[in-house]
Amino acid sequence: MIVDDPHLDPLLDTAPCGFVSFTDDGTVRAANATLLEMLGYTAADLVGKHIETALTVGARIFYQTHFFPLLRLHGRAEEIFFLLRGKDGEDVATIVNAVRRQRDQEWISDCVLMRVRERRKFEDALLRAKQAAEEARAAADEHRRQVQEANEQLERQAIEMEMSQQQLMEQAEELEVQSEELQTLNDVLVERGEELERLRAVADDANRAKSTFLAMMSHELRTPLNAIGGYVQLVEMGIHGPVTPAQAEALGRIARSQRHLLRLINDVLNLARIEAGRVDYNLERVPLRDCADAVLPMIEPQLSARRLRCELRVSSEVAALADREKLQQILLNLLSNASKFTPPNGVITVEAFEPSPASDVVYLRVQDTGVGIAPDRLEHVFEPFVQVDDSHARRAEGTGLGLAISRDLARGMGGDLTAESEEGHGSRFTLSLPRAND
Ligand code: ADP
Repeated sequence: MIVDDPHLDPLLDTAPCGFVSFTDDGTVRAANATLLEMLGYTAADLVGKHIETALTVGARIFYQTHFFPLLRLHGRAEEIFFLLRGKDGEDVATIVNAVRRQRDQEWISDCVLMRVRERRKFEDALLRAKQAAEEARAAADEHRRQVQEANEQLERQAIEMEMSQQQLMEQAEELEVQSEELQTLNDVLVERGEELERLRAVADDANRAKSTFLAMMSHELRTPLNAIGGYVQLVEMGIHGPVTPAQAEALGRIARSQRHLLRLINDVLNLARIEAGRVDYNLERVPLRDCADAVLPMIEPQLSARRLRCELRVSSEVAALADREKLQQILLNLLSNASKFTPPNGVITVEAFEPSPASDVVYLRVQDTGVGIAPDRLEHVFEPFVQVDDSHARRAEGTGLGLAISRDLARGMGGDLTAESEEGHGSRFTLSLPRAND
C-alpha cells in the first residue's frame, strides 16, 4: 500500500490514474502506485518530500504562481496541464484535477493526474501550426509592408516623373520659341547678307567703272598736255621767232602749270591702276641701303636749294622683300614731302631697322624737323587729294596723291605706311615691309 493515508481508500492504488495529495507547504502526504509507476519513483522518493520534486522547472514556477494560489482561492482546479518530471529526467505530461480541503485540522490538496500522450502530440502540432501561422502572418505582414513601401516609392517616382515630364515639356516649349526666334534672326541675317552682297557687287562695279574712267581720262588728257609742253619748249627755243622777256616769263608759267597738271594726271593714273589691281609687283630682296643710295641723289638738288641736311642711318644688312622701283618711288615721295614741309636749315633723317633679330618685318623711316601735321588731320593724310594746309600745299605744289599712292604700294607689297607727327615739331613716316631672307 503506497497510499499512506488513513483517509484514503486502498483501492486508489490501483486506480487507472495517478493520485497525489500534499499539504499547503507542499509536502507530499500520499501518492498512489499508478503515479509512482508513471514517474518511475518509489514511495520513499516522493512521500514526505516537496511536491516540486516531481515537477519540471517550468511546472514549479507555474505551481507557485498559478496552481497553488488558484487552489487556495477556489478550493479546486480542473484540467490543468502539468509537466511532471520522471526519475530518469523525462518529462511526463499530465492533466490534473485538484481539490483542497481540510482534514484533521490540516489543509490538504488531492490531485488526480491523467497522463496525456496524444494530446501532447496534438498540442505540439498545434503549437507548431500556430508558430507556422504566426510566422506566415509575420511574413505576410512583412510582404505587405514591402508592397506598401514599393507602392509608395512607385507613387513618389510617378510624381517625380510627372514633374520632370512637365519640366521637359516646358523646356521643349521654350526651345521651340528660341528656335523660332533663331530662325527669324537667321532669315534677317540671310536677307542682310544678300543685301550686303548685292551692295558690294554694286560698289565693286562702280569702283571698276571709276578706275576705268580715270585711266581713260588720264590718257586722253596726257596727250594734249604733252603737246602743250612740247610747243612751249619750241616757242621758248625761238624756233617760231624771237621771244620777248615778258613772253618768256609767260611761257615759263605755262610750262610750270603744264608740268603740274601732267604730274597730277600721272598720279591719278597711277592710283587708278593700283586701285584697280592692275599693278604687278616684282618682289625681290632689296637692301634698304641700296634703295636710299639710289633715291638720295634725285632729291639732292631740292635739299640743297632749301638748305636742308639729310642724315642717313641705314645699314647695308637690313633688306626687304619688295619691288625695287616701287620702294624707291615711296622713299622719293616721303623725302620730297619732308623737304617740302621742312623750313630751311632743318634736318631730315632716313633710318632703317629691324624690331628684333628674329622679326619678319623691316622698317624704313623718314623723319623731319618740319611743320608737322595737326592730330585731327593726321588720320586723313593718306586719303587721295588731301592736303593738310592749303597755303603750304600751294607753296609746295603738291597734288595730294603722293601718300595715298605710297600707302597703296606699301600694302601691295605686303607692308604698310604709317604717320606720326606733332604740329610744329616735325613728322615721322614709317614704312614696314616683309623682311627678306638672307
Ligand atoms: P602732296 O602732293 O600734297 O604732298 P601727299 O599725299 O604726299 O600730297 O601729302 C598729303 C599732305 O600731307 C600734304 O599736302 C601735307 O599737307 C601733308 N604732309 C605730307 N608729308 C608731310 C610732312 N613730311 N610734313 C608735313 N606735312 C606733310
